[in-house]
Amino acid sequence: MEKKLEELKNRLFEVNDLNMIGAVLNWDQSTYMPPGGAAARGRQMATAGRIAHEKFTDAAVGKLLDDLQSYEESLPYDHDDAALIRVTRRNYEQLTKVPGELLATFLAHSAETYQIWAKARPENDFTAVSTHLEKTVDYSRQIANCFPGYDHIADPLIDFSDLGMKAESVRTLFAELREALVPLAQAITAQELADDSCLKQTYPENEQLAFGQQIIKAYGYDFERGRQDKTHHPFMTKFSLGDVRITTRVKENDLSEALFSTLHEAGHALYEQGINMAYEGTPLANGTSSGVHESQSRLWENQVGRSRTFWQHYYPQLQAAFPAQLGAVSLDTFYRAVNKVQRSLIRTDADEVTYNLHVMIRFDLELALLEGSLSVKDLPEMWHGRYQSDLGLRAPDDSDGVLQDVHWYGGLVGGAFQGYTLGNIMSALFYEQALTAHPEIPAEIGQGQFNTLHTWLQNSIYTHGSKFTANELVERVTGAPLTIAPYIRYLQTKFGELYKL
Ligand code: ZN
Repeated sequence: MEKKLEELKNRLFEVNDLNMIGAVLNWDQSTYMPPGGAAARGRQMATAGRIAHEKFTDAAVGKLLDDLQSYEESLPYDHDDAALIRVTRRNYEQLTKVPGELLATFLAHSAETYQIWAKARPENDFTAVSTHLEKTVDYSRQIANCFPGYDHIADPLIDFSDLGMKAESVRTLFAELREALVPLAQAITAQELADDSCLKQTYPENEQLAFGQQIIKAYGYDFERGRQDKTHHPFMTKFSLGDVRITTRVKENDLSEALFSTLHEAGHALYEQGINMAYEGTPLANGTSSGVHESQSRLWENQVGRSRTFWQHYYPQLQAAFPAQLGAVSLDTFYRAVNKVQRSLIRTDADEVTYNLHVMIRFDLELALLEGSLSVKDLPEMWHGRYQSDLGLRAPDDSDGVLQDVHWYGGLVGGAFQGYTLGNIMSALFYEQALTAHPEIPAEIGQGQFNTLHTWLQNSIYTHGSKFTANELVERVTGAPLTIAPYIRYLQTKFGELYKL
């Protein structure tokens, strides 16, 4: 058994290396690569992806998994070896169903689409990318159809990022959430808008980056095992557990852009940096789902980084870094500014109250695209229509409409958005548990100390990597299934106080 497990691990290390090579190529493409590299880069990433796929789906891996089944069954569920075999088998079954040829063609298409989108968005040219998007919808359907027996065609695609969630269960959860969110958003937006002009002054780039980096260092982000670079659309990526990188974008006329995207991506990175080093190179060395991943970015960005106690500590330092801009602005004004609630057009800039409404629009539209009830050519107008009805405004163009998010232009259509809202729900769930275990956490945050919170998250969530599914993790940490109650409680308490509701 030991020999077979060793052989399985060696095969998994090779697959992991190829995937990490692909990640380096992707990071480079999104940060420093000149435009001339695009065509070859798409091919190179496809090659790495194809070889990784071939190696992972090799029948010999299936045979090893079969041979190891009795060993797995002899172990407790949470034993590392049992988890490794279980998670590998799950991934194996998922990937053996998608033909290598289809996957490689899709990856090459996807890299090309990304390049076209990166140019089409600033030029407000949806037509330039629409044929590619049509093909993406088609590929997404083909890939979903490799998993017959689903209730909804989006279900297999949702499983890729949030295993166990279904289009129908997400719809139900979202409907429940919408019922609580809409009145809250209405009560707030009926009031006078918070004044956030203090954030819209000129803030030099280097000072902005330095301030954000100082905070995430205090959070526990390890720069010996990571770095930060600039990109169009901020993301976190990992080349090994010892190299977990983040990216951001800076706007000199908007302090919140780089600052909160830095706190957000650092939250993702803290999760990956916190995974048990013994899992390095195996399928366990990843965050377990996109929802759980997002719960960590949101927790550090919002629950911590937009709280009053946090800014009681950091605001004087921010004022010292930008005395001309903030010297005369009170903490209260600043706190209200970074928590401004308004109907807005851009998901990534949206406040905590309206954010999920943006996600629900995208989730519904991608289900409609996959079902075939919506065509790509009608998508921009449908987008505008939903923003009109759900958020009460219309984007002046497609750049801030249907072209605003990278997801559909750099991956599948389907399964990419529900994780954001699941993450918001779980962020409150986990944070409430951390506070129950350690009521001193808010006081520590008020001192710029994050060690107790970071350690609790590390031990309760990060260290496990993919050992437990999102639902199992929620059960382990909270003793109950996923519920929206703590999230609603959090929003109503925080914004009730801010807006005197
Ligand atoms: Zn995120």
